[in-house]
Amino acid sequence: MRLFLALEPPDALRARLGALADSAHARCGGRRVPDESLHLTLAFLGEVETSRVEALVEWLQGESPAGGEWRLDRWGTFRRPGIVWVGGGTPDPALDALQARLWNGLEALGHGGRPTRFVPHVTLLRRAARLSIEALPPVNLAWRWRRLTLLRSFTLQDGPRYEVVARSS
Ligand code: ATP
Ligand code: MG
Repeated sequence: MRLFLALEPPDALRARLGALADSAHARCGGRRVPDESLHLTLAFLGEVETSRVEALVEWLQGESPAGGEWRLDRWGTFRRPGIVWVGGGTPDPALDALQARLWNGLEALGHGGRPTRFVPHVTLLRRAARLSIEALPPVNLAWRWRRLTLLRSFTLQDGPRYEVVARSS
């Protein structure tokens, strides 16, 4: 199954991210990520054999991150897949440390795919027709996070869906 580790926004923040997604969609077009799918990916595992999922779940349940507060204050784009996102204008040491720690754990379990660069972001649009983010409303959000979620990604006819597999402590 296709798996990734992510932070899920608290409900109030989810709604505010959704409002930004609406603004971006009105201007840039493309596919707006539905509120229930908004997330910050920390580690993308890709396809994982069913026989390896139990060990992954046990490892995650043994993780109890101290948590942190991530400040989101900018729009960004990834040109090729036409992604419009929001994120932070400066690096966030707590998120960087968390991402590194998770990949150390994943590699110890035999999982590969650690990226060379980590750009924490929340995708709001996919396949945007226009990457014109200049006139979008200012972003000024704080995300208080602690627990991590292992999510399974699958595809339905109308687009991708995520399902919770496990959570950290
Ligand atoms: P779709 O690919 O069908 O449009 P999706 O991107 O939402 O849907 P996945 O491709 O399963 O679903 O990705 C799940 C999460 O992992 C998303 O946050 C995505 O940006 C991220 N992701 C996907 N592929 C990679 C990759 N190769 N490297 C890093 N992150 C990835
Ligand atoms: Mg994808």
